[in-house]
Formats: sequence, C-alpha cells, structure tokens
Amino acid sequence: MADECVGTLAFHAMLHPVGQATDELAMICASMVFLYVVLEADHLEAQRSWLPALQIAYAFGFAVAYFTSPFFFPFFVAAYGCTVLLIIFQAYRVYKLYAAEDTESAKWQRLLFWVAATFYPAAFLFLWVPENALCPIYPELFQALHLHAMFHIATTISPYCYVVFMTYHRCTVLKRDAEHRRGIGLAYVHVALSGTRNAWKCAKKLLASSRASLERRWLSGESRTPAIAKPCRREESG
Ligand SMILES: [Zn+2]
Repeated sequence: MADECVGTLAFHAMLHPVGQATDELAMICASMVFLYVVLEADHLEAQRSWLPALQIAYAFGFAVAYFTSPFFFPFFVAAYGCTVLLIIFQAYRVYKLYAAEDTESAKWQRLLFWVAATFYPAAFLFLWVPENALCPIYPELFQALHLHAMFHIATTISPYCYVVFMTYHRCTVLKRDAEHRRGIGLAYVHVALSGTRNAWKCAKKLLASSRASLERRWLSGESRTPAIAKPCRREESG
C-alpha cells in the first residue's frame, strides 16, 4: 500500500506522466500482492511456489505494455478491474467462514469484508466514472463536487479494511491469539505476544513487583538490604 500511496501522491502533486506511471503501476503491483495474500492465506505454508514468479512476470509485462503503447489505458482499467473483482471473489470465500458465526470477531470480519468489497467498486462506478465522463462537459459543477477526492477517500478505506480482514484471518490460520480493536478511530488486529515474549513480559512484571516489595520493606525499616541501600543513599546524597 505504501508504494501506491507514494505513487498517488506523486501523480496528484505533479500531474505528470511519470507521476501517473508510478501511481498506476503501483496499483497493479498492490493488486498482485492482495491477490497473493487471499490465495495463500488459508495455508500454513505457501502452496503455489510458482505464483510470485507469475505475478512478477505479469506486472513486468504490464509495465512494458504501459510504456510502449499509447492506447493502453483502457486495457489498464479493464485488467485492473478484473483483478479487483477476482480479489473480491476470493475474499468472499474467506468471508463465508465467518458468515454464520455469532462472535464479536465474526461480526468485525463481516463488516470489514463488506466495506472492503463494496467501497472500491462503488467509488469507481459512482465517483470516478461520472467525473471522468462528465467533467469535460460540466467543469464548474464537477470542480465543486470534488468527486475525485471522495473517490480517493473511499478507495483508501476499502483496501485498509481488506488488510485488517486478511490479517485477522491469517492469525486464525496460524492459531495466533488475535482480536479486533479500535485505535484513533481505526480498526486493527491486536495479536497477543508469542510464548517467549510473553515469558519475558512476565519476568519483567515479577522483577518490578519484587523490587516494589523490597522498597516498601526498606522504607518501613523492616529490612535494609545492601542491594537497595546503595541506590537509595545515592539519591539522598544527590
Ligand atoms: Zn486520483
């Protein structure tokens, strides 16, 4: 998503063919990553070892055609649209796993899926297409409506929800202890610490509580051990 953000920023800031290429080719690369994720998310280990090579070849061939053909834009839109529909279709297969569950996580997953699956196509059909078709005819009206800005907001929310949706699903496949949470208005997946890190966290907690207990005993005069006497004396003298 980061490369797409940089590409989009470059395109809208420069309105130059180079910016446009970084924006649109990044969309193709991001769609390949999203497709790979949904195709392999159900397996503990990747089942299609040939898939990354095929996707890189597709993206490379696409980039060559993009730069060599002046009439490529309609093909770009069609190819990208087909990839997005394929991702939605595959994600629906994952969605069905949560469709009948009556848990909080399943409700989150259903909501995330529907936002991801509907915002992107709807933004394309109802914001991008009308603006591109009608803006040359009614420029003042469409400049006031800011449909393109709304298109970008909707097409940012949609892939973000997809990432959260797939992250949670991947955690369930890996049997990781995960849950949906909200922070600064955004949904995210909180993954519990793994065994080693959890043990380290417990050890730190134990150490802190032992230290607090020793300090309490020291202050009450019950026990004045040299181990904590030194730091306390330094503080007093300083
Ligand atoms: Zn744009």
